[in-house]
Amino acid sequence: MPIFICPNCKYRSVDIDGYEGFSTQAAQCRNCGFGFLFQLLEDYYPAPGTGFVVCDRDARILAAGRGVFELTGYRDADLLGRDVAEALGFSDPSPIELVREWGVRKLGQTLEIRTKAGFEKEVTADFFPAYDEDGGLLVALTPR
Ligand SMILES: [Zn+2]
Repeated sequence: MPIFICPNCKYRSVDIDGYEGFSTQAAQCRNCGFGFLFQLLEDYYPAPGTGFVVCDRDARILAAGRGVFELTGYRDADLLGRDVAEALGFSDPSPIELVREWGVRKLGQTLEIRTKAGFEKEVTADFFPAYDEDGGLLVALTPR
């Protein structure tokens, strides 16, 4: 059964009544009203400090959830439309290609990101492919 997660408040829901609809793009979070829900094939439990970044099929940032600012110092407006690996200075962007090409999750990747202030920060990154026809991916960043 598909599970939807809100990249903003991390509210997880199961689409039992069709509310979430058929496209992650059209759906809205029931809990906080955030304009994106991300469909997962299996349940996922983010850590309290995890920040989610939603990307399109070209790995450009569509939305950043709560926690991303605390982690990176970037506001939404700093990030929207930018290549995620470039914008956040991923020390290893290779999981993104893997996820996009093969449509599989890559969990527990240890890499560094670069904050707005220019500091390197160690994170654990989980990458999820989107299962709708728009493609795209979800990146979960958890401080280490
Ligand atoms: Zn929400």
